[in-house]
Amino acid sequence: MECAIHQGSIKEGVPASAMMRPFQELENIDRSRPLDRCPALILNADYRPLSYFPLSIWPWQEAVKAIFRKSVTVISEYDRVVRSPGWEMRLPSVLALKEYVPMARKPAFTRFNVFLRDQWNCQYCGDGFKTHELTFDHVIPRSRGGRTTWENIVTACQCCNTRKGSRMPHEVEMYPLREPRVPSIHMLQDHGRKFPPNFLHESWGDFLYWDTELED
Ligand SMILES: [Zn+2]
Repeated sequence: MECAIHQGSIKEGVPASAMMRPFQELENIDRSRPLDRCPALILNADYRPLSYFPLSIWPWQEAVKAIFRKSVTVISEYDRVVRSPGWEMRLPSVLALKEYVPMARKPAFTRFNVFLRDQWNCQYCGDGFKTHELTFDHVIPRSRGGRTTWENIVTACQCCNTRKGSRMPHEVEMYPLREPRVPSIHMLQDHGRKFPPNFLHESWGDFLYWDTELED
């Protein structure tokens, strides 16, 4: 069985019963879900997502290999089945690692995480924007010795960024709405729940959202 996986010989099979009864197949979208829409949500050994940003998901091939390596526990499955001769399995929708992976304590200083901290709101006019409409502003301009750090970088729209230019906040009366700080992982996770990824399977809900509701 393991050989079949490593040789990549899993094929999308159409069960004979489904061919004979096409209407039954239509009744269940999950069964005919395209394979590229069957990623598995990966949880750490404590059943929290391994990562929120980006959300820890593996394509189905990776997920199946991990099952054969016995490095994960299957928590939930799609109705979608993959087959190779003499073998079939339902694709996993949620997997938990058997060994705990220690999590980073500090979030990475990345473009995405700055937007996430500021929740895609320009920190000068307060309006919300899409990623491609946003840029960054050095609160204390670089030309005045300002550094590129969590404490000196804020999300800004193009308009405000141009208006402020390379001047000090007091020179243009433009102050960030919130004092820029290093966010905690918890804060980013909290903000991230408001901006879910494009694809979410219903089986992921318990692991992504329940804990917030319980904390509230
Ligand atoms: Zn603005």
